[in-house]
Amino acid sequence: MKIICIGRNYSEHAKELNNAVPEKPVFFMKPDTALLQKNNPFFYPAFSEDVHYETEIVLKINRNGKYIEEQFAHKYFDEIGIGIDFTARDLQAEQKKKGLPWEIAKAFDQSAPVGNFVPKSKFQDINQLNFSLKINGELKQQGNTRDMIFSFDHIISYVSQFVSLKTGDLIFTGTPAGVGPTKINDHFEAFIEDELLLEFNVK
Ligand code: MG
Repeated sequence: MKIICIGRNYSEHAKELNNAVPEKPVFFMKPDTALLQKNNPFFYPAFSEDVHYETEIVLKINRNGKYIEEQFAHKYFDEIGIGIDFTARDLQAEQKKKGLPWEIAKAFDQSAPVGNFVPKSKFQDINQLNFSLKINGELKQQGNTRDMIFSFDHIISYVSQFVSLKTGDLIFTGTPAGVGPTKINDHFEAFIEDELLLEFNVK
């Protein structure tokens, strides 16, 4: 499986990092070794001094497809979850400055904690979903999918022109504003609406 991540999909977040709001989806990938599941701890990596959390709604792809038309894209996922797109912001800043790829800052081991998935049918409208992150009990990030620049269906359609989607692939759909640094001993809790779907410690 692979993990596809959308960057700059919430304009308030694009602005907080001084990035232009994109005209087309920006995507990058993380390998399967980035996945962190079952609420296992995240071990703070030695190569960074500025690992940031980015809280994102994650789609789980349920069938293979390419050149998926936007009107059919909703058929390609039944379940959604919440995940953290951990980013070594110090390494990313160096890469950005030089115009180099971001993998060193985005694709490292354990950089994609993902919680339990729930059927999307559980929610009245997945295009108006509240989601949030608490660290040590304090609210750190709060978003609503209505603020996405590119919808879930558009993302699936766009990405599948370039990269075939396969059953079990995950798509991180972008973070709202409020990203920030984490540190050892932090306790993460991530929610869709009021449901706690991801919880882990930083070690
Ligand atoms: Mg992100």
